[in-house]
Amino acid sequence: MAGRDGDAPLDAAFVLEWIRELAGQIREQRDYLTQLDAAIGDADHGINMDRGFTEAISAVPHAEGRSPGDVLQAVGRTIINTVGGAAGPLFGGGLRSAGKRLGEQAYFDAEDLLAAMRAGLESIQGLGAAAVGDKTIVDAYVPALEAFERELRAGGDLASAAARAREAAEEGMRSTIPLQARKGRASYLGPRSVGHQDPGATSTALLFAALERTARARLAVTEERP
Ligand code: ADP
Ligand code: MG
Repeated sequence: MAGRDGDAPLDAAFVLEWIRELAGQIREQRDYLTQLDAAIGDADHGINMDRGFTEAISAVPHAEGRSPGDVLQAVGRTIINTVGGAAGPLFGGGLRSAGKRLGEQAYFDAEDLLAAMRAGLESIQGLGAAAVGDKTIVDAYVPALEAFERELRAGGDLASAAARAREAAEEGMRSTIPLQARKGRASYLGPRSVGHQDPGATSTALLFAALERTARARLAVTEERP
């Protein structure tokens, strides 16, 4: 395998492991995500996300014969089609755009993933027009990508970049608590949205937590090899 183990090429199976890990975390956190949405929305975020990701993993049962980009696009499309509300088109569209950016290549690396996740962010902001500080997905996503890139530039591998991204996403998620929502359903509450953590920023932190776990698991497997 080329390069250091931490830089081993990533494939479609890696993407599917990431999505399955995320689906598992969303299932575990479903009630919590829904409670967060009950405070400033309509109490469906955990239910929406769980429905979408459960459907996505059954729509893409294995990675054979698919490129990594194809897996992400299929997952994104399923989420768009099965999840109503704001989060379905935003999350699903983000994953689909990330998949498009990965294209048809069989392998990708951490730099390709950064570019793909940037394309995902562009899609989310293109559709939802939210900026950092509006109390949305974007508040976790933007700092996570910045931390991911910083760690890669400092010579880190995928697992350490994903770890920094997860930490930054969690910090961004917590930063939504004192904010007043300016986008989405929570914005209808005006100042009453202050003091509550944003559900979409919380599930975005799970996206990066799942990436970290998947990357660490992959690293452990490659390090076991002689
Ligand atoms: P809905 O608000 O339609 O019930 P969900 O409850 O599933 O959909 O998702 C709510 C989450 O969607 C919010 O917590 C917020 O993070 C995210 N969201 C809403 N509007 C936007 C937007 N314009 N840009 C980015 N994220 C948004
Ligand atoms: Mg909702």
